[in-house]
Amino acid sequence: MVARRSVCVLGSTGSVGRSTLDVIAAHGGAETWDVQALTGGSNAALLAEQARAVGAKRAVIQNEGALPTLREALAGTGIEAAAGDAALLEAAGCGADVCLSAIAGAAGLAPTLAAIRAGSTLALANKESMVCAGGLVRQAVEKAGTRILPVDSEHSAIFQVLEERHSEAIDRIVLTASGGPFRAFSLEQMRTVTPEDAIAHPQWSMGVAISLDSATMFNKGLELIEADQLFPVASHKIEILVHPQSIIHSMVGYLDGSILAQLGTPDMRTPIAYALGWPKRVDAPVERLDFVALSRLDFEAPDEARFPALRIAREAMEAGGLAPCAMNGAKEVAAEAFLARRIPFLEIAVVVECVMETFDHGPAAASLDDVIAADQGARTLAREVMQRRARQFA
Ligand code: NAD
Ligand code: MG
Repeated sequence: MVARRSVCVLGSTGSVGRSTLDVIAAHGGAETWDVQALTGGSNAALLAEQARAVGAKRAVIQNEGALPTLREALAGTGIEAAAGDAALLEAAGCGADVCLSAIAGAAGLAPTLAAIRAGSTLALANKESMVCAGGLVRQAVEKAGTRILPVDSEHSAIFQVLEERHSEAIDRIVLTASGGPFRAFSLEQMRTVTPEDAIAHPQWSMGVAISLDSATMFNKGLELIEADQLFPVASHKIEILVHPQSIIHSMVGYLDGSILAQLGTPDMRTPIAYALGWPKRVDAPVERLDFVALSRLDFEAPDEARFPALRIAREAMEAGGLAPCAMNGAKEVAAEAFLARRIPFLEIAVVVECVMETFDHGPAAASLDDVIAADQGARTLAREVMQRRARQFA
């Protein structure tokens, strides 16, 4: 019998979290996996159902108000139920062999660091951890003697085709982007799009925040910074290429002119299976690519005039320090305001850019507290910018 591996899934009730539980079920379920902890934000019913299905040791819900529902749904199962930020950090730090980090947004950073410090191999979907605190995360990984296995599909692709022993021979990284639902829209058309339009992603089924980030292309901006933090390649060698079918998940080019690419259907269960199975490859319940049915793959240059997020992110990456963290915090606030119909779509990038003009991003973060302060500072500035602009247009 194969040794069971222990696993902890942070954000199991979300899109990536649910796909992770599919992979776990397809690959032996509780026979193969010793599920130490599952965590969710506020959907206690789903969290309890997941915990029962995989025989998890504990289930933690971040929203304390949902604890009674969770307790009731787990009564008699022997599964421990807990709630709140401290319980979440404790679950993240349970020291499982692998921790799949899939909480949405900057809220995923502290639990991600707790998992690393406990020595877990980090299967990382929460790109905001690398964007807000890439240096701290890398230091913590080194100190704990563990490693990061990227789950973001582009970074998984790069990880799969990047020949580490030839890192000096890497010529470029080509990060592919679907272009999102507004790829072919003019700025004029983007002026009036609704939250419903923006979260209807043409290729990928994902959580609301990342779907909106794909529409603004802030997602690709975050991924550019994530790639810069994860791979031993100079930032100017990372290119973005629009590829609407999302079949090539990213590529690495070498000095001899060879390009290695990873392809697959746009389904997160492939990169999740790669990270959970690593260094082996395990089954993933995904559709196989049919090249004849596909017949063609298309490519376009990214357009920074219509998608300023790409430029803003590159500038934040080049500025370094806490600039990417500030960009992300401001973006999360502006994105929420758009989803609540308080600002139009094109204002999201405008608000972020205004924040970046005034934010004093200073040196690299020395601690998690520095990151939290920068994130909070940028959020406050973003709210002020929105108020000022609302008055101006009133
Ligand atoms: P989602 O919104 O569907 O799920 C997020 C999960 O985090 C849920 O379980 C939610 O309850 C939990 N959560 C939210 N706020 C929380 C908080 N403050 N404290 C604790 N838990 C909280 O998001 P998703 O689409 O699954 O994305 C998760 C992460 O993975 C994001 O960082 C995203 O960028 C990244 N990612 C997602 C995809 C995708 O296909 N969805 C692809 C690549 C990367
Ligand atoms: Mg991605």
